[in-house]
Amino acid sequence: MTKEIPALYGSLVFNDKVMRKKLPKDMYKALRKTIENGTHLELDVANSVAVAMKEWAVENGATHFTHWFQPMTGFTAEKHDSFITPSGDGEVIMDFSGKELVKGEPDASSFPSGGLRATFEARGYTAWDPTSPAFIKDGTLYIPTAFCSYGGEALDKKTPLLRSMEALNKEATKMLHLLGNTEVTSVNTTIGPEQEYFLVDKEQYKQRKDLIFCGRTLFGAPAPKGQEMEDHYFGALKPKVSAYMHDLDEELWKLGIPAKTKHNEVAPAQHELAPIFDTANVAVDHNQLTMEIMKKVADKHGLVCLLHEKPFEGINGSGKHNNWSISTNTGENLLDPGKTPAQNVQFLVFLMAVIKAVDDYADLMRVAASGAGNDHRLGGNEAPPAIVSIFLGDELTTILESIENDTYFGQQDKVQLDIGAHVLPHFFKDNTDRNRTSPFAFTGNKFEFRMLGSSASVATPNIILNTAVAEALAQFYTELEGTAPEDMEHAVHELIKRAIRKHKKVIFNGNGYSEEWVKEAEKRGLYNLKSTPECLPQFIADKNVELFTSHKIFTKEEIFSRYEILLENYVKTIGIEARTLEEMITKDLLPAVSTYTAKVSSDAASKKAFMPSISTASEEALVEKLSAAYTSMTEGVAELKVLAEEAGAMEEMQAAADASHEKVLAKMDEICAVASNVEALIPDSILPYPTYDQLLFSL
Ligand code: ADP
Ligand code: MG
Repeated sequence: MTKEIPALYGSLVFNDKVMRKKLPKDMYKALRKTIENGTHLELDVANSVAVAMKEWAVENGATHFTHWFQPMTGFTAEKHDSFITPSGDGEVIMDFSGKELVKGEPDASSFPSGGLRATFEARGYTAWDPTSPAFIKDGTLYIPTAFCSYGGEALDKKTPLLRSMEALNKEATKMLHLLGNTEVTSVNTTIGPEQEYFLVDKEQYKQRKDLIFCGRTLFGAPAPKGQEMEDHYFGALKPKVSAYMHDLDEELWKLGIPAKTKHNEVAPAQHELAPIFDTANVAVDHNQLTMEIMKKVADKHGLVCLLHEKPFEGINGSGKHNNWSISTNTGENLLDPGKTPAQNVQFLVFLMAVIKAVDDYADLMRVAASGAGNDHRLGGNEAPPAIVSIFLGDELTTILESIENDTYFGQQDKVQLDIGAHVLPHFFKDNTDRNRTSPFAFTGNKFEFRMLGSSASVATPNIILNTAVAEALAQFYTELEGTAPEDMEHAVHELIKRAIRKHKKVIFNGNGYSEEWVKEAEKRGLYNLKSTPECLPQFIADKNVELFTSHKIFTKEEIFSRYEILLENYVKTIGIEARTLEEMITKDLLPAVSTYTAKVSSDAASKKAFMPSISTASEEALVEKLSAAYTSMTEGVAELKVLAEEAGAMEEMQAAADASHEKVLAKMDEICAVASNVEALIPDSILPYPTYDQLLFSL
């Protein structure tokens, strides 16, 4: 089996190997040039690529093609067209033109645009992204594309991501040249998104309306066992899970997705998959595909894959770790401390740029991790707090402090002092200590952004990070510009000194879960934006609009439309949850409470009839508890209905989101607490849906 993996890997991808084989030499060269340098693609090249792609796709069983894109919903979209074209004699041929490859015109009127695309120009268009390879899935050739309106506004997540990669490329390259590293001609953002998920039994899933409609349980009595034994993390894989993961890996490998690591996570029924990192836009495409394939393969195995951030109360939820770095076309990772003093200077500049970026735009980083699902997770004792801070580890922190205070002495042994020749300390890569409580951690040669929700597209955090770092580098460039090469190290030293003084408030190496940190962060003036409606207004704050527009990532209209969509999405999600809760309580839980109340009452009555002297005090107490819960839930649901309708009817989206959070969700929490408590009193045989015990421990 293992022998076949290299042949299997990428077998459904129109990759470099296939291109080289299928394309005339000059066409292949022209295409590579476009991929590597982003140059314009001539129509004759597009035609030639289209012919080769179609030939390869048909050989591999494809009958259709689709432009595949990522509208602002955060999901992916596709519309399939067959290759068949009438040949005039009642027959058909399989045809695909350069025009069809390069541009598509899906009817875009039903995708959210936040008012960007007036309905009279409903036809947005998709444009081929040749830097992300095409692939075959279920008999269709998938062509990764960007999605824009006819006015040129981005209607998707890929367009701004590509723009942000370009902005960072431009600023980083400029900086490297200034620092004397003139061999570099381009810089690439790399990301490796680790993906957490839950697996549950499909038959059980089908019996829970909350899982079906909301992707999470809305209430449930905790199972007798949770994650307290810490026996699931990295534990042996159960056969069903192992078979699933095996199949999943193969499906991903066929699509050229470098799935690398798989293991059990902290919570029961929770798992993780991590790929080998890749160029940002490719990795984003791959992560979207990974989430889709995870669900598809689960279905084949009689399972359901839950990507929601908080499927179960009382145990850990799921996140996504966005590992991020920048590398040059000469093969250098700019966040790797390197071996020479010159590399150290470069490293310190880029490290400082990231620190500055995250401090200046911590609010935007928080926006990237927003969403109704992730709100249940952030700030719990399982995920980073809602406060954005950076973990650097002791060594790097000491180095920055020593620069700040001009005190190179008394540092750890690893720091090589060469004060005569070099102003900046020289040091080697350290195995940075781990800090799982930090939202943004330096991990030796990359940063790991850990706030993201498991279902989120990784495009958004990378758009923000790339742009914010580009801005920091641009500002540093202005400060260093004109410095003579022999004075550069000193100038960098002074720059870092100024920057660290200003931005050290965002560095925190301690326990992010602690109460003290919340207080300390407030003293430092850091944001603590607790919920989605609370953080979203930061998206349209002046400084952030200025950031995005000055680097040409978003226009002002594009930002405001995205803000509207995010708010609307939040309101709709809470609305669906409220209606689902109402239905589950009314149709599932209340009847069960009623049945059990009747049973306990009649059992007590017959006991009493049989033996008048016996006490039925326990039954009476139980009946009282059951009826109190019954009344409370009935009233709660009636109130919830009114609140949800009020919030849903509000025209102004920010007000609707605020009401959804403060009124609707708060009422839901009250009802759910009662529901979970009463459920614990009722026998499983009377409940019409599976409990946490069954969902979490039956695989
Ligand atoms: P963990 O965080 O669990 O210790 P690893 O250190 O193995 O895991 O890496 C986690 C992820 O980081 C993987 O997806 C890996 O490919 C990715 N990664 C490693 N180096 C880089 C890099 N230079 N840029 C972006 N991602 C990277
Ligand atoms: Mg990790």
